[in-house]
Amino acid sequence: MIERAEGYPSLKLHIDGEWLGAEGRRVFEVRDPATGQVLAELPLANADDLDRALAAADRGFKLWRKSTPEERARVLTGAARLLRERGDQIARNATLEEGKTLAETRIELHGCADLFDFYAAEAKRIYGRVLVRPDGEQSLVVKEPVGPVAAFAPWNFPIHNPGRKLGAPIAAGCSVILKPAEEAPASAMAVVTALVDAGLPAGVCQLVFGVPDEVSRHLLASPVIRKCSFTGSTIVGKHLMKLAADNALRTTMELGGHAPVIVFDDCNVERTLDMLTLAKARNAGQVCVSPTRFYIQDAIHDRFVSALTERFGALRLGNGLDPATQMGPMANARRPDAIDALVADATARGGRLLTGGERIGNEGYFYRPTVISDLPLDARIMNEEPFGPVIATARFSTFDEAVEQANRLPFGLAAYAFTENGRQANRIGAALEAGMVGINVTRMAYADAPFQGVKHSGHGSEDGPEGLAACLVTKSIHQQ
Ligand code: NAD
Repeated sequence: MIERAEGYPSLKLHIDGEWLGAEGRRVFEVRDPATGQVLAELPLANADDLDRALAAADRGFKLWRKSTPEERARVLTGAARLLRERGDQIARNATLEEGKTLAETRIELHGCADLFDFYAAEAKRIYGRVLVRPDGEQSLVVKEPVGPVAAFAPWNFPIHNPGRKLGAPIAAGCSVILKPAEEAPASAMAVVTALVDAGLPAGVCQLVFGVPDEVSRHLLASPVIRKCSFTGSTIVGKHLMKLAADNALRTTMELGGHAPVIVFDDCNVERTLDMLTLAKARNAGQVCVSPTRFYIQDAIHDRFVSALTERFGALRLGNGLDPATQMGPMANARRPDAIDALVADATARGGRLLTGGERIGNEGYFYRPTVISDLPLDARIMNEEPFGPVIATARFSTFDEAVEQANRLPFGLAAYAFTENGRQANRIGAALEAGMVGINVTRMAYADAPFQGVKHSGHGSEDGPEGLAACLVTKSIHQQ
């Protein structure tokens, strides 16, 4: 039996209103990425647990679909308030299990609370239509909750990702079985606890952990589930879409990205450098909208790359709990290995390593901020999502060339452009194939704005009214 880290909760599953511990179940060791030390043991659901979760979600949906918008709103605003009240402890545990800085986990916590507040209000705006018909006839268009949702959330936003998987379905009147990442379970537990403490009835939200492939196959094969919502890598998303197809499930897929950054020579150089350094450092680059392929226009290329290298290379790395830390470790032992392999490939193909390119120390999963310039198109890093603290740069001359490079890959999640020329800003916004475009900004997530990808980066939206619409089905009722 492992001794839990101080303040870190005893980890549990939540099924049909009951919290269930490790008794008789397999366990997973949750580690602190800053030290590699085990934080606690996480119970993993077995087939009986998943069957119970499905039966509970079925009952929970039948109950919750009849709830009033006010009841849904009360639970969501109550949970938002509890998250803020418990914020210090929740943010600390999120940093302990995921590694990102406390400043980042606090922002995440508030993002999740704001999203719950947004959906509390949005629950009251589920409208239908009455169509114009001859006397004696009636045609109605109504919106109904899609049904029980199987939702899979990754580890990189341990608080906000579970919040995204729960806020909109609960506002819509759905029940949910949430399987967050096993690597960051306390944060997801805190989000579910806030909803339960705010009065969410038993059966509406189950929280399960397990062997990911076992859990997704089991849940998606059940006739109870009506929708699959997944955030994670494109490869796993495609696999889940195939499983979902067997039961003709609605899907929302937030998949991988490979965000191009087009830096025109007329940008505000200092501001652009500040914004991009911070955005790339966020969660050590383990963000689906992280700026990744930097295309820099000829006239400013050399001085921009050199200033970027200086700033990015100077970031202070350390334990995310230390207030002086600007970038934490990578989230798990797989990530530094993956980045090492991409860097080795890039340099072997002629890329110039300007800073970083190595791990730091032998405790935890720290990787030095890395910049590689002059990359050929066939370098793996110019084609595969790195998901780490690596900036890859290349140069461009003309607008058309930049657009061609940016749109070259099958991904289309986020794309960024920096220019002070208004006409160029309008043209680039229209030309980029992406679900989200930032022009002179790097922030992409807002409670009221839809978050989504195109092409191999997925389909369907989360956040905003679009996120609620993705949890509703439309029914026409014609009557004489
Ligand atoms: P991974 O592909 O093994 O897992 C990604 C996520 O999917 C994890 O949360 C995992 O628990 C879940 N998952 C994996 N197999 C599953 C299955 N069969 N059924 C249900 N869920 C399953 O990769 P990883 O090593 O955890 O992360 C690395 C890669 O994942 C990154 O390179 C990045 O591309 C991607 N990723 C993307 C996001 C995002 O926000 N879009 C978040 C995390 C990871």
